[in-house]
Amino acid sequence: MSQIGSQENPLRVAIVGAGPSGFYAAEHILKGEDLHAQVDLFDRLPTPFGLVRGGVAPDHPKIKSVIRVYEKTAAREGFRFFGNVKIGHDLEVEDLERHYHAIVFTVGCETDRALGVPGEELPGSHAATAFVGWYNAHPDYADEDFDLSCERAVVIGNGNVAMDVARMLALTDHELRQTDTADHAIEMLDQKRVKEIVVLGRRGPVQAAFTNPEIKELGELEAADVIVDRSEMELDPASATYLESDDVDKTTRVNVETLREFSERTPEGKEQRVVLRFLSSPVEIKGDGKVESIVIGRNELVEESGALRAKDTGEREELECGLVLRSVGYTGIPIEGVPFDEKRGLILNEGGRVLDSHDSGHKVGHYTAGWIKRGPSGVIGTNKKDALETVTHLLADVESQTLLAPESPTPAAIEDLLSERNVRFVSFEDWQAIDQAEVGRGEPHGRPRVKFVRVEEMLGTIGEKIGG
Ligand code: NAP
Repeated sequence: MSQIGSQENPLRVAIVGAGPSGFYAAEHILKGEDLHAQVDLFDRLPTPFGLVRGGVAPDHPKIKSVIRVYEKTAAREGFRFFGNVKIGHDLEVEDLERHYHAIVFTVGCETDRALGVPGEELPGSHAATAFVGWYNAHPDYADEDFDLSCERAVVIGNGNVAMDVARMLALTDHELRQTDTADHAIEMLDQKRVKEIVVLGRRGPVQAAFTNPEIKELGELEAADVIVDRSEMELDPASATYLESDDVDKTTRVNVETLREFSERTPEGKEQRVVLRFLSSPVEIKGDGKVESIVIGRNELVEESGALRAKDTGEREELECGLVLRSVGYTGIPIEGVPFDEKRGLILNEGGRVLDSHDSGHKVGHYTAGWIKRGPSGVIGTNKKDALETVTHLLADVESQTLLAPESPTPAAIEDLLSERNVRFVSFEDWQAIDQAEVGRGEPHGRPRVKFVRVEEMLGTIGEKIGG
């Protein structure tokens, strides 16, 4: 048999998960001039682009323009998209092992991290991931129900997702109607009675995880005042010293300047208020059958292994609220047959090479990139470098020919298998038909698109196209 990667025996790679990392991994493989490669990118949804479609806030359309880059990858020779194919259901990992020299898992971190406080599961307490999926028309969250009839909502966490959900609760109907927010969410948000959105950070302003544009936006809302009590800006000695030091990073410095400026504002009496609180942790969510209040514990910062950690002072406060959005980070979901690091919520790997176990070697032919490799951190572009590290290892393994030995390496074999199993897979062309239909629905309303929410609706669109 000729060398893997030659014209006679092209490198065949399956990438599982069509988010940014999946596309960047595909690009790094396909752009190699001396390598003959075919990349099949699988996604359980009929739609590609992962969190760029289902996570990025609808009022941030510029961030979504990165899709143009992924479309260029999709246009490369050797690229195929297989949407609506769930690995672990329609195809097993063993099926991929029989068809490809290498598999790259880029499935992201699909679920929320638990808070671990009593009452977390009460109706009215939701993971921010569900709220984000709901307003972004992700099919998994189409039937979620958020009670927006309460006066106060509490958002837990101080990352950019917390900023996104707080802002989405504060946008006006007019602002939302210019975006690709799901229609069901626009309708419900239009009826909202939420007057106050309280954002709880467990540490101080200096330790906040959000970035400068996201915090600044809260100060520019049309219909909401941003409130930071001046006392919140009185820093503990260690934070103050860090802020004054040469080590301080620009993001932190500008975050604190922005928060200081907020704390000096006089509220204008707008319809809504976004209140940012620090050194505040949820201790319990209370209610009789649904969320009615949250007990907040006051923290102090203590130094531990070189970092400042939140420590409960024992001081308590109870705040009435009807909606809690828990935004304390994402975590990965294990895939059957792929070694998983339960503690970190990631695929067990070293630099993107999947490991058999903590102390054994590389599981030949298995790779990972993106959040499921390193954890839910960084911006979209971070995944480009991350995928490059993985692909560099993969290409080194092509060089040494240490890859899987597929039994059916022809491009048609996987299509035949999917057809045999009656899986209605969606090609990139099919996706373009869905895309055009969504854009067409948006045009009369001056919106970038009106998204389909149900998988059947998406597949129906392709059917219509095929039918003429
Ligand atoms: P994140 O940035 O990791 O923030 C998680 C937040 O939750 C932190 O403030 C963390 O506080 C807090 N937290 C964790 N456990 C907690 C607990 N038990 N109680 C209270 N608070 C707790 O995560 P994320 O907001 O989900 O964002 C994920 C990634 O996507 C980030 O890299 C983010 O920048 C990125 N993202 C970017 C954008 C954008 O560019 N516009 C938008 C959305 C998301 P500690 O710091 O104290 O741990």
